[in-house]
Amino acid sequence: MTNNEMYDVIIVGGGPAGLTAGIYAMRAALKTVLIEKGVFGGQMAITKGVENYPGFIEIGGFELGDKFLQHAKAYDLEILEKEVVATEPGLEYHAVRLADDTVLKAHVLILAAGGSAKKLQAQGEQENFGKGVSYCATCDGFFFRGKDVAVVGGGDTALEDALYLAKITNKVYLVHRRDAFRGSRILQQRIFAEPKIEILYDTVVSSIDSDASGVTGLSVQNVKNGENRKLALEGVFIFVGFAPNNQIVPAGVKRSTGGYVITDEKCETDIPGIFAVGDLRQKYANQIVLAAADGCTAALAAAHYVETRKS
Ligand code: NAP
Repeated sequence: MTNNEMYDVIIVGGGPAGLTAGIYAMRAALKTVLIEKGVFGGQMAITKGVENYPGFIEIGGFELGDKFLQHAKAYDLEILEKEVVATEPGLEYHAVRLADDTVLKAHVLILAAGGSAKKLQAQGEQENFGKGVSYCATCDGFFFRGKDVAVVGGGDTALEDALYLAKITNKVYLVHRRDAFRGSRILQQRIFAEPKIEILYDTVVSSIDSDASGVTGLSVQNVKNGENRKLALEGVFIFVGFAPNNQIVPAGVKRSTGGYVITDEKCETDIPGIFAVGDLRQKYANQIVLAAADGCTAALAAAHYVETRKS
């Protein structure tokens, strides 16, 4: 089923990159639709507090996401709450296929599908998802009020969420495979100052242990001295990185070894008129402000591209 209406721009994804692209595309008077299958705000929406988005010393992630959405709506951006299952590049136009089999056409596609939490691939992880294993502290932390939990990882997400969980739970074991954290210095300082957090450096997860009601403990091993330890706890929060949601990126588009889309400085892929922005795109760091900047860049470049096509 093809919707014969032709858009200037179709944006796939309603996180900071996609919504910013929407704001700039509407300001450039481009006929634009943004398609989002889940929650607006992307990773922001599941982040408790944001402290590094300029202009806001501290703001709730969900609240900031909603501000982006309201800003885009103020420009009457058309929004479809549907799932995109494929993108199809073409010479005359590019197409987007939705889960209900509708096909939408546009001169420009801006892919802003973001990324998702990586799995640890530990024994007991998959079967205990939702029964003690979680990838989102702000979503599930409440269920572990007053209990003992573990956080696995050493990046910004692990440190930030360990601090969040320390406020709710009785104790947080912070399990990291190396002896130094990758996360920022300011978060490290807060971790070291938090008495409820016990850091287990050089430690890997051997298994997530459970009974019929869910997680009961974590078996870990120190990789330097081989010592094994069993931690009695009820929750395991896994933050071992992030993988791009690249399933809807056309097959021919160049990607990095990690699966991130490689673009030029306009955020354009090697297929003219197809852009990738935000956490989907290969770049130095993943930050809300950088995702928003990508959205801006791609929409400005899209305006130029559409103008050239129409002239
Ligand atoms: P990340 O920076 O990639 O960190 C992943 C962590 O998990 C690393 O410490 C890594 O250990 C560990 N790890 C990876 N695979 C593992 C495995 N198989 N077993 C055990 N540990 C494993 O991911 P992230 O923390 O989700 O952050 C993603 C991006 O978002 C980063 O650019 C980050 O700066 C950004 N972010 C920023 C903020 C903020 O600015 N407030 C908040 C959240 C996220 P190694 O260190 O040994 O590799």
